[in-house]
Amino acid sequence: MSLLSLEHVTASYGASQALFDVSLQVGAGEVVALMGRNGMGKTTTIKTILHMVSATAGKVTFDGHDLRNLPSHKIARLGIGLVPEGRRCFPNLSVEENLIAAARAGHWDLARVSQLFPRLGERSTQSAASLSGGEQQMLAIGRALMTNPRLLILDEATEGLAPIVRQEIWSAIAMLKHETGLAILVVDKSLKELRQIADQAVILQRGTTVWQDKMVNLTAETTDRYLGI
Ligand code: ATP
Repeated sequence: MSLLSLEHVTASYGASQALFDVSLQVGAGEVVALMGRNGMGKTTTIKTILHMVSATAGKVTFDGHDLRNLPSHKIARLGIGLVPEGRRCFPNLSVEENLIAAARAGHWDLARVSQLFPRLGERSTQSAASLSGGEQQMLAIGRALMTNPRLLILDEATEGLAPIVRQEIWSAIAMLKHETGLAILVVDKSLKELRQIADQAVILQRGTTVWQDKMVNLTAETTDRYLGI
C-alpha cells in the first residue's frame, strides 16, 4: 500500500478549476518527482495534499487516513513535512528558534540538522532574515525535518539558488533518501538531478496526470512533449 495516494483529485480556487484529474502515489522510502510546465498544478496538488486547498472530488489518503476531512495541522502531525515554495521561515527568530519551533520528538534534532547543514549550526544565533537565500532554504528543509516526518514534500527547493548551493541541497536530499529512507515528493525544474534521485515520476498537464511511471522509463520524447525539454 502507498504511504500517500491521490486518486482522480479535482480542486478549484473559487470558480477557477486548477486540478482536473490528479493521481499519484508515493510509497514508503520512495522518491517521487512531480513535474510539469509552469502553472500546470504542481503547487496546487501539494496544497491539496495538506488541505490548504480543498479537493472537490477524488481521494487523498496518507497511511490510510482520509486527508480530505482533516485540517492542515493534523495532516502535518500525521507525518508530512512541507518545504513550501518561497521558504517561509520566521524572519525575526534565530536559526535555532526556527528549528525548535517546529520540533517534534524523533530522529531529527538540532544536532542532526546541523550535521546535515553545517552552515545552520554555524549560524544558529543569527536571525533567519539575515541568512542568504540558500541558507534560508536549508533552514526551511531543517524545519520540516525537525517535525520528524515520514514524507517530506519539497516545492522548488533549489529555485533561484547559485549552482554550488543547489548542489549542497541535492546532496542533502540524496543523503535523506539513502541514509534515512524518508519518502520524498519533490517538485523541481532540474531534470538532470531529478533523474538521479527519483524512483518514480508524475507529470501534470493542465491539472491532469498525463504520465506516471518509473523514472528510468521517462524518455526524451516524453520530456519533450510534456516539459518542453
Ligand atoms: P509553477 O511551476 O509556476 O509554480 P504550478 O505547476 O505549481 O506552477 P500552480 O501554482 O498549482 O501550478 O497553478 C495551477 C493553476 O492554478 C494555474 O492556472 C494558476 O494560475 C492557478 N492558481 C494558482 N494559485 C491560485 C490562486 N491562489 N488563486 C487562483 N488561481 C490560482
